[in-house]
Amino acid sequence: MLYRRQARRYNTYKRKKTMLNPHPGLPEFTYVKLASLDEACGFLVEHAGEARLISGGTDLLVRMRDKAFKPAYVVDIKGLEGTDVLAFDPSSGLKIGAAVPMNRVVAHPDVQKHYPLLAQAAKSVASYQLRNRATIVGNICNASPAGDTLGACLLLGGRLNIYGKDGERFEDLVTFFKGPGKTSLQPGEIVTSINFPLPEKGATGTYLKLGRNKLSDLAIVGVTVYGFPDKMTESGFRIKVALASVAATPLMPPVVETVLSENEITEDTIQEAANASMDACFPIDDVRGSARYRKEMVRNLTRNAITEVWGQLQSRTENGLEANR
Ligand SMILES: Cc1cc2nc3c(=O)[nH]c(=O)nc-3n(C[C@H](O)[C@H](O)[C@H](O)COP(=O)(O)OP(=O)(O)OC[C@H]3O[C@@H](n4cnc5c(N)ncnc54)[C@H](O)[C@@H]3O)c2cc1C
Repeated sequence: MLYRRQARRYNTYKRKKTMLNPHPGLPEFTYVKLASLDEACGFLVEHAGEARLISGGTDLLVRMRDKAFKPAYVVDIKGLEGTDVLAFDPSSGLKIGAAVPMNRVVAHPDVQKHYPLLAQAAKSVASYQLRNRATIVGNICNASPAGDTLGACLLLGGRLNIYGKDGERFEDLVTFFKGPGKTSLQPGEIVTSINFPLPEKGATGTYLKLGRNKLSDLAIVGVTVYGFPDKMTESGFRIKVALASVAATPLMPPVVETVLSENEITEDTIQEAANASMDACFPIDDVRGSARYRKEMVRNLTRNAITEVWGQLQSRTENGLEANR
């Protein structure tokens, strides 16, 4: 009798423990470290469907723990040619290798001076500890519509350097995202770096993120705005917007840019652009927020972000300053 009661208690304890920790551990896999891009690419082709690349591992290992991916092989990109580069050149721009952790990007003086929008977006990702591992290229290749750095990378004209079995190719980031977790990468292809041209003269930008808390949460909605003086437009400025967490891929609604290019920029124009931004997105309901709430927040955050950027552009124009150059 006593034994049966004890057994019952033990079973209840075990059940509760399983409920408290539904992810008891990583599945088994073989860690692979190869000497060159060529070898890594060959290995990926040979083991297509059963090998995955790892950079910081902050997405991959969580997905493996959650049993979303079960790769037999995890191939490390760290140490492969060109993946550790973080370099700025005043004529060609910025190059960020695929293995460079976000904290290194955020702290780099040339990133802070010439690409403060990128530093701001990277700094909004989770916590300092996580950013010691997480990379910008990992954020991109993970292809989550909620990725915090994707808007800045898109608006700053990011271009990926990709190594595959036929050698090197380049792809503009605008064509890279195909859906949640889906990209244009072909079997065996490895992103080695992302390159950014020099920002336009007088450019400025901001990233506004709405999360459930200030640390370590994905965006319910994220709005990136990037603008610069442009004599070819009616307004004298070109202001672009990118939206996170409101569609299957990051969105860059051209209608917002058109409203702000073709009209004198006033409070009413900014409100019109914010409404257009809201109308352009098609979010879903999920644990972080309803579709309706997200739409409202897109409008509010777009208005606030454009107002902030517009204010900076005006003061820079008045003071004759050339930002970020
Ligand atoms: C606690 C926590 C909080 C988080 N908070 C945020 C947040 O606030 N904002 C946010 O945007 N993200 C957040 N994330 C997600 C994650 O940290 C980021 O997406 C990060 O940038 C991923 O980079 P990584 O180097 O760790 O990628 P990895 O996990 O190494 O890789 C991600 C994906 O890209 C593929 N991959 C990696 N490198 C390459 C390559 N060179 N070529 C081709 N494919 C490649 C991998 O196979 C994998 O599918 C969070 C994650 C955790 C665990």
